Amino acid sequence: MPRILIVEDEPDIALGLEDDLTVEGHEVQVVRDGETASRLAREPGWDLILLDVMLPRKDGFDVCRELRRARVQTPIILLTAKAQEAEKILGLELGADDYVTKPFSPRELRARIKAVLRRFAPPEQDTYRFGEVEVDFARAEVRRAGAAIEITPIEFKLLAAFIKHRGRVLSREQLLDAGWNHDTHVTDRAVDAHIVNLRRKIEPQPTEPKFLLSVRGLGYRFDG
Ligand code: CA
Repeated sequence: MPRILIVEDEPDIALGLEDDLTVEGHEVQVVRDGETASRLAREPGWDLILLDVMLPRKDGFDVCRELRRARVQTPIILLTAKAQEAEKILGLELGADDYVTKPFSPRELRARIKAVLRRFAPPEQDTYRFGEVEVDFARAEVRRAGAAIEITPIEFKLLAAFIKHRGRVLSREQLLDAGWNHDTHVTDRAVDAHIVNLRRKIEPQPTEPKFLLSVRGLGYRFDG
């Protein structure tokens, strides 16, 4: 659960942000002045700081500058009241990662938060598990119930592409790109054939796939 520090002195906005981000599954804490923010933000464990610019006791620019000088690397999104170009540029120069101009829509802010969190997420893990399958990217190996299974390089590349884009439909064309590196002799049918083989290796019941699903007319989707 990402932890977000909200620094905002206007009670209505602070409350709105707190509610909205809590519903989104974030753990949040609100502080209302720059001095407290500067102190609290140095404590470990924050994933993001939402930092208003106009604050009592110390403004958001100063807080941002102090934190970066203190080598606090936590991503910062500035909440700027003025849509002035100079303010945005100053904020980014001081080490903020993004800014949102007030008044902002909750939806816009959520999108920015998501993008910043994604940018700062730790690198993908070396292994990925679904069902009784474990994919080991470092060793290019797939294990099922603990035992290594035979998998061709193309099947491995396809599986890696599915895991990377899990939950999204991949077209046969995208899968061709992922598996074959622009080999023009390969047809869509070859993709289908490899999917059949892959299902035999990773699905509990290959004829009724649970992870590697066909999406009619579009391609395939991995729900693992
Ligand atoms: Ca303010």
